[in-house]
Amino acid sequence: MAQVAVLVAIFLMVAVCILDWVVMPLEFALPAIQFRAFTMLPLLVALFAASLIWPTNPKIPYGFMAVGALNGIGTVIVGGIAARSGIEFVLWGTIFVTFYVYLVCGLRFRQATIAGWPVFLTYFIVGIFVDAPFVKMAYGTLFLVFTNLIGMYAAFLFEWDARELYQKNKQLQALARTDGLTGIDNRRCFDKHLSDAWRQARREQHGIAVLLVDVDYFKLYNDFYGHKPGDACLQHVAATLAKSVHRPLDQVARYGGEEFAIVLYNPNKQFVCDYADELVRSIAKLGIEHKASDIAENVTISVGAAMLWPDASNEPDQLVRRADDALYEAKTLGRNRAAVHRTEKPIGAAPKVTALTA
Ligand code: GH3
Ligand code: MG
Ligand code: MG
Repeated sequence: MAQVAVLVAIFLMVAVCILDWVVMPLEFALPAIQFRAFTMLPLLVALFAASLIWPTNPKIPYGFMAVGALNGIGTVIVGGIAARSGIEFVLWGTIFVTFYVYLVCGLRFRQATIAGWPVFLTYFIVGIFVDAPFVKMAYGTLFLVFTNLIGMYAAFLFEWDARELYQKNKQLQALARTDGLTGIDNRRCFDKHLSDAWRQARREQHGIAVLLVDVDYFKLYNDFYGHKPGDACLQHVAATLAKSVHRPLDQVARYGGEEFAIVLYNPNKQFVCDYADELVRSIAKLGIEHKASDIAENVTISVGAAMLWPDASNEPDQLVRRADDALYEAKTLGRNRAAVHRTEKPIGAAPKVTALTA
């Protein structure tokens, strides 16, 4: 978009220069062409290069704003010089550059307004300076004021649409990350987060823990209380689990059905054991009645935890499998408990120098 605006400007400038050369008297054509070739063209080429090198730099639009305004003001002044040498002081060129500023440069409403109105003011001042006829100036002023107002309206609509699109994109991205029932991160987000955290942990020689949480006898809960209370129960469990993590790289996600997954970044090994036990206690403490359960009066969970230090020999799936094995163990040992996979920190993983050669 930015590059197109510059290319349009360069193309038109060259075309106008050729036209000036062919149809205008030399004493006018020469300074006009010199102004465009030595002032505007280098600026436009610099802007083109800048927009290619730093396409997302927020300062680029300000370059467009300045060049757009300068282009408009310059065009009017060149017209003024022409008028001094007897050529008619024309309006349409000014209208054209004004529309260029508002519609082609891709500026925001405020930037376009700041760049557009000075062009009109220049037209007004130059018109007085070259003694343009009153009727001409009256029409010129009217048309240019309306051109600016229409341009402002168009720039406002562009910006509004762009903002709305941005918001909708954000909402869609959030929806794609979120589990519909519980409002926490979904499985896809868990996979992505684990693989991102995995890479970071490998770089930094840190460990990662995954905990799989499964609601005990949840099929019986559904059968006994119904699907809707089952949903509400999952929402309570999810909210409680979500409250248990606080660090930015930790995550609680719905893994699927009545299972949840938790990622802990660089936890202490003892902390993982304590945290898993605390999760079991905090769900039991919620006191959600579960008369159909074989092991308690209330809803309980089983937790399987595992920890790994990412390196060339392992991968995230392995960590999840270990957590799943631990969960199976917790279930077999009687549910309403946590089991931690016995993983030793690999020898030689600690020194920082290994991270550099890994
Ligand atoms: P275990 O203690 O061995 O985990 O037994 P369980 O009954 O919890 O396990 P099982 O895998 O047999 O049953 C899981 C149940 O979870 C079956 C399914 O109806 C229920 N479930 C899965 N997703 C949802 C959901 O979104 N809402 C509700 N209400 N129930 C769900
Ligand atoms: Mg299950
Ligand atoms: Mg279950």
